[in-house]
Amino acid sequence: MARILDGTAIAAQIKLEVAAEVKSLAARGIRPGLAAVLVGNVAASQIYVRSKVKTCEELGIFSEMLTPPETVTTEEMLRLVTELNNRTDIDGILIQLPLPKHVDTKRLLDAVSPDKDVDGFHPVNAGRLQAGRPALAPCTPAGVIEILKRSGIAISGQHAVVVGRSDIVGKPAAMLLLHENATVTICHSKTRDLPSVTRQADILVAAIGRAGFITSDMVKPGATIIDVGINRITDRAEFDSFFAGDAKREETFAKRGSTIVGDVHPAAFQVAGAYTPVPGGVGLLTIAMLMANTVRAAKIRRGL
Ligand code: NDP
Repeated sequence: MARILDGTAIAAQIKLEVAAEVKSLAARGIRPGLAAVLVGNVAASQIYVRSKVKTCEELGIFSEMLTPPETVTTEEMLRLVTELNNRTDIDGILIQLPLPKHVDTKRLLDAVSPDKDVDGFHPVNAGRLQAGRPALAPCTPAGVIEILKRSGIAISGQHAVVVGRSDIVGKPAAMLLLHENATVTICHSKTRDLPSVTRQADILVAAIGRAGFITSDMVKPGATIIDVGINRITDRAEFDSFFAGDAKREETFAKRGSTIVGDVHPAAFQVAGAYTPVPGGVGLLTIAMLMANTVRAAKIRRGL
């Protein structure tokens, strides 16, 4: 039976540690602060941002939600970012993506002060990560490393295969694994004979954005699978192809008309030695690492 790597427990542990740090900073008169910018009315983004703000409250981090309308221009957003860059009570700036199409996302992310870039998306932070001097690493990849380490899964010397090369997940995850002395292979949509590569993985990280894409035949028996994917499925036939006979999932699907599946087919987990479930895996770590980054940014900015 494959071991489940419990994202809920690990995220809770990290949040406890962050809360303790916030407390010790408070004793020195410092309160880390996060500004969360949410543009428009995208339902999923609203849920994400609210849960980030709520977690700040739980941990004693100051937070402020800014909600420009859908019609906001790039120039107006740039002015907002400049204001936040200059505010002394704000240590971290989070711009919830995606932004409306007419807003120049790249220009905006580049305008965030690298020292307040708690998402770790700024090219300066990508460069620091590449150079082996990570200051603020992207939250989801950092969460992947935390899950592995805190679950006692060896990384050094292991062959880690990362499927996906996005700037926010795949690439930084590969870099962090490399810094942990894994032998790293990065795969993408042009990779030839992907299954033959993924079957070599001791640690397989799936960050593709396609429901159940990694199937049993693509996994080496006993491997550790980290499933970063979050895909909402609403189609009954698709649901059945993943979860037929799973009573708990049936209940969720009947109630909500949808459920979440990762980039790994549930049957593939049975081949693994250990895996992160979806939900209940990497997703929970993302918010925990955002909190950790906010505290880290507060300390770095004050030279602590
Ligand atoms: P992107 O769409 O930016 O990147 C997807 C990557 O997968 C690309 O590099 C793409 O290759 C690769 N890919 C697509 N199709 C194939 C294929 N057939 N074979 C091999 N590789 C393929 O996605 P993200 O990195 O932003 O997100 C990946 C997943 O992680 C999504 O499900 C997303 O929802 C989830 N996610 C989860 C988070 C969490 O908190 N748990 C946070 C962020 C994302 P190419 O570059 O060649 O196009």
